Amino acid sequence: MTNIATEINSSIGAGEVATPSDTPPITITFADFGLDPQIQKAVSEQGYTTPTPIQAQSIPHVLAGSDLMGAAQTGTGKTAAFVLPIIQKILRHASNSASPARHPIRALVLTPTRELAVQVAENAGSYSKYTDLRTAVVYGGVDMKEQVALLRNGVEILIATPGRLLDHIGSKVANLSQVELLVLDEADRMLDMGFLPDLQRIINLIPAQRQTLLFSATFSPEIKKLAQSYLRTPVTVEVARQNAAADTVKQVVHMVASADKQRAIVKVLEARTRQGLSRQCIIFTNSRLGCAKLSRALERDGIKAGAIHGDKSQGERTLTLEAFKSGAIEALVATDVAARGLDIPDMPCVINHELPYNAEDFIHRIGRTGRAGSTGDAIALVDASEKRLLDDIEKLMKRKLDVKTLPEGSSSSSRASASSNSAAPAKMSDPFFYMPYESGAAPKSADITKPEEKKVGIVPAKPAVGALLGGLKKK
Ligand code: AMP
Repeated sequence: MTNIATEINSSIGAGEVATPSDTPPITITFADFGLDPQIQKAVSEQGYTTPTPIQAQSIPHVLAGSDLMGAAQTGTGKTAAFVLPIIQKILRHASNSASPARHPIRALVLTPTRELAVQVAENAGSYSKYTDLRTAVVYGGVDMKEQVALLRNGVEILIATPGRLLDHIGSKVANLSQVELLVLDEADRMLDMGFLPDLQRIINLIPAQRQTLLFSATFSPEIKKLAQSYLRTPVTVEVARQNAAADTVKQVVHMVASADKQRAIVKVLEARTRQGLSRQCIIFTNSRLGCAKLSRALERDGIKAGAIHGDKSQGERTLTLEAFKSGAIEALVATDVAARGLDIPDMPCVINHELPYNAEDFIHRIGRTGRAGSTGDAIALVDASEKRLLDDIEKLMKRKLDVKTLPEGSSSSSRASASSNSAAPAKMSDPFFYMPYESGAAPKSADITKPEEKKVGIVPAKPAVGALLGGLKKK
């Protein structure tokens, strides 16, 4: 069910809420939510000054006890939109008692991937650091022992991937009978990854008298069905047009024969260097094998590349991600699943080495750039065989993508003549025509906030190791 008041008018910015008449929008600050000073202090410490639109729209509803469906792209601040009110709501249970019985699981956040789980746990740990609430994260692929010890010790906020949580439930280490709040984060991805049976099993173990929040980048029919089954008259909060990409992302398609794609990436990065733009980029591939091969090939071409895909161990993934965040790696070659949930703020550029088979994945991919008010470039390298995939993406986004052609005489195919909005070919000596991507100011966007302290570039590595080990996040 849609609550009209919660649907953001596209002219409304961060911290502003639509009013029914022509009166100017009301500006909301974190203080307006009435959050406990312990939470406010932690929020201020993060440097957040104004709530993002998803936060401004969701937090009051969650505090009021409503179920909620949030359509929010990555990078909109959706984690704090559910974590902050959750902390507020369960704060009354906070206890400094050492007894595990005083620390049952009160809030459960389910995520599709370990990377997202870790990030949510990091945030939850930071936002609750001045309270006595305990936060922990459990996911598969690592030893159970440490997680078992944490769960036995007691934890109020648990972030988990579904499979591993079921393992802990099976061995009677995790008990969900006192869960009051359930969050399904990136629910669309959980369904894509086949987690529906696991989700059903888990949700059936949670008391019916609970509050359920579902976040998803897109509201597919399957997601709506899931919501119908498990949410009660939810408020719908949409801070981005459904199935739309952020306005801050400048998208471009280059028609390139498959065999020329790797070379095109090198040219793109060289052109970015010439323009004084960052070379840091995420390059998406469809297969693990393709991911590993491309990463190695780019390295041979002198590009500092690293691969992140499902065949890599958790330790390898962490090291690669840290190297990417520190700048030691400039091109992170990734598959969709492995890249899901990676928090790399202000990513300047995303390159699609191939188009994804599922058009919605394209939106997830390009959601890695143009986040939190910065501008970003999303470049898709498309060969003739991918034309149908491109059509699907354009249909989903309800717009034609800007196709920039390769120079005449190139061996690669071109779609320019078929495109009314393609740029005029420019004379360049490079075999791969490359138009400069503007680095101008971000367009006004309703779904993006512009944090003052954020800079374009790479953020330093976060102290994620404790969380990666499933560690408790406390002061
Ligand atoms: P998320 O969409 O939850 O992954 O958040 C994206 C990024 O925005 C994270 O790095 C957050 O730390 C940051 N963020 C969340 N809320 C705010 C806010 N109100 N102001 C500035 N940055 C924020």
